Amino acid sequence: MHKVLIAAAIMFGLYAPLDASAQQKVRVLASFSILADVVREIGGERVEVASLIGPNTDTHGFQPAPAHAKAVASAKLVVLNGLGFEGWADRLVKSANYKGARLIASKGVKALSAETEGHGHDHQHRHSDRFDPHAWQDVANMKIYAANIRDALIAADPAGKDVYAKNADAYLKKLEALDAEVRQLFSGFSKQERRVITSHDAFHYFGDAYGIEFLAVQGAGDETEPSARDIAQLIQQIKKESVKAIFVESISNSRVIEQIARETGAKLGGTLYSDALSAADGPAATYIDMIRHNAKTIAAALR
Ligand SMILES: [Zn+2]
Repeated sequence: MHKVLIAAAIMFGLYAPLDASAQQKVRVLASFSILADVVREIGGERVEVASLIGPNTDTHGFQPAPAHAKAVASAKLVVLNGLGFEGWADRLVKSANYKGARLIASKGVKALSAETEGHGHDHQHRHSDRFDPHAWQDVANMKIYAANIRDALIAADPAGKDVYAKNADAYLKKLEALDAEVRQLFSGFSKQERRVITSHDAFHYFGDAYGIEFLAVQGAGDETEPSARDIAQLIQQIKKESVKAIFVESISNSRVIEQIARETGAKLGGTLYSDALSAADGPAATYIDMIRHNAKTIAAALR
């Protein structure tokens, strides 16, 4: 790799550790940090994983730059979420003249509609006008992602079949344990108690899976600021219904959330991670840590 390209890679937050053995590794490019983590779990030593969008970075406002096209061009496998999450992907793949394999990791999940129900919002859903893309927030869906990633790695690197299958088995077991752990965390709460507010509308899959009702200030697209009318409506709703806690998100502006907490007296429950992992030393450095952190943070606030 040229120096310029390495500098560009660092500048654009492409996380591709380069080492002497990198030549033999399968280069996989994931669209965002959560997918990159799962590819790393299943690919292990055989793969070199980079993420177009790094930790703590909002995927919604992403604009591909020339360095990103170079990263795509050098990959053997590109892993995307799908469900309209990466609206820029087709253009990027085309501009990189990429002819390699492309996996839509969400293939086979039961997608939820992008429409939010019943709380009077009129947001634009920039991700997609049809589906809510945040399927990874349900651990059962991540098991489908993981199996898809395993199969795509085997197709890209058949010699690694046994390694990928073994790593995937171990990871799927961890996901199963995580799913049970989250269910256990929420088992003591009544339906009335399981109602919270977040800043952007990314937790419908989590809510459906674990019986938590999420009301959001912003739509699933997260690009538009909520209007004064939206905020006033939500404040009314929080006062009328018994909403226990509200949360800020790592990738969103917390100003509006703090204003709502002040005006309603609902308690601020902490920070949730929706579309990006934290830095390596943060509370959501891996997908499993992220789900566990979110579930514990929500459960603690409901108490
Ligand atoms: Zn999102």
